[in-house]
Amino acid sequence: MTDPCSLEKSPLLTVNDALERISAAIQAITDTETVSLKNALGRVLADTIYSPLDIPHDRNSAMDGYAFASSDAHEQPFTLELIGISWAGKPFQGRMQAGQCVRIFTGAVLPEQADSVIMQEHIQLDGQTVHFPADTKTHQNVRAVGEDVSQGSLLCEQSKKLTAVDLALLATAGVSEVRIYRALNIAIFSTGDELIALGQALTTGKIYDSNRYLLTASLSDACYQVTDLGVIADNKHALTDAFTAAAKNHDVIISTGGASVGDADYVKEVLTACGDVNFWKIAIKPGKPLTFGNIGECYFFGLPGNPVSAQVTFQKIVSPALKQLAGAATTRPLQLIATCSSSLKKSAGRQEFQRGIFTQHENGDFFVVSAGQQGANILSALSLANCYIVLPSECQGVEAGDKVLIEPFSTFL
Ligand code: AMP
Ligand code: MG
Repeated sequence: MTDPCSLEKSPLLTVNDALERISAAIQAITDTETVSLKNALGRVLADTIYSPLDIPHDRNSAMDGYAFASSDAHEQPFTLELIGISWAGKPFQGRMQAGQCVRIFTGAVLPEQADSVIMQEHIQLDGQTVHFPADTKTHQNVRAVGEDVSQGSLLCEQSKKLTAVDLALLATAGVSEVRIYRALNIAIFSTGDELIALGQALTTGKIYDSNRYLLTASLSDACYQVTDLGVIADNKHALTDAFTAAAKNHDVIISTGGASVGDADYVKEVLTACGDVNFWKIAIKPGKPLTFGNIGECYFFGLPGNPVSAQVTFQKIVSPALKQLAGAATTRPLQLIATCSSSLKKSAGRQEFQRGIFTQHENGDFFVVSAGQQGANILSALSLANCYIVLPSECQGVEAGDKVLIEPFSTFL
């Protein structure tokens, strides 16, 4: 069977083509700011950072034990005289001679003459005499200068979105401030005369606006500053005013609803009047209509109103574009091969992101089932799902036992 939506006059754009067109059209922001490391989590680095230091900076012990020179270990077993202690932060100050060893703790600097550490569990202590066993290995448990990162080598690359571990790595190297790209200012709003806010009584024909909760939460990221412009009525003047005002002080506007070609769908028309517009029907299900364009310097994404379509188009189309705009390196989503435990309905014509629930069996194999009804309005199945089942455009359905590609949601990774 063929998807009736693929029988359009103009051919539908593939998801990859839409992504490429958007990527070619947008310019990443270049404004930067310098912040202290503790404020840099999740921000995008504007510089490549090389290590000003060797890490570790000193040769130190990887164990609690005894530091000795390998030249004293030629005949085994052997005994050495204990002459002092090297603590983490308080190195041994004396000089170790042949026949001597030093008590040492993890992270403590090795005496210059030592090149080996034996774990404390492996020796026998008899007053100031340390008995080393017959199988004592030399050159063990010593962390070399620069073995983690050598001075001048790469710490973090420009365009990296900084993780907790990156902050720790930079801190280890003594980097206290970083230059990052400024956050994107993003305005969001919903359109639709049927939409009411939470707290208002629901009357016939009205629905609660869920999309702004979806978008606000999906945009909660250190790189984005979100302004919620509320609900705009299905009215050309109201939309024109909202678009032009938001475009003045935002980098991006994201709207949901009114994006199709119904009589009350004004997004495309209004954007054409006050900016430049690309209106595409994308070969994606759910979420076919997408308006992309700009009003002056401000980029505009008009998403479909159905909540599942809004989420899928946000994740698959808008989110990569925002990452690029914010200066971040873009990554492809992780896809896994899973056995589909149930049959799935699908018509040829559009790439589908069906909502699925995957599990991993003890042998490591992945299995997936449909999360329920697949309508573009069925939020409950999206909420139950932990992955998309990605079905290519030409696929005409899946039989139980077939292999499919799944994309786990990031919260389940
Ligand atoms: P539209 O894109 O305006 O044609 O809307 C498509 C469907 O999505 C309709 O059923 C709308 O009522 C619904 N819808 C639009 N906006 C929202 C919203 N913000 N929250 C929940 N549902 C919405
Ligand atoms: Mg509408």
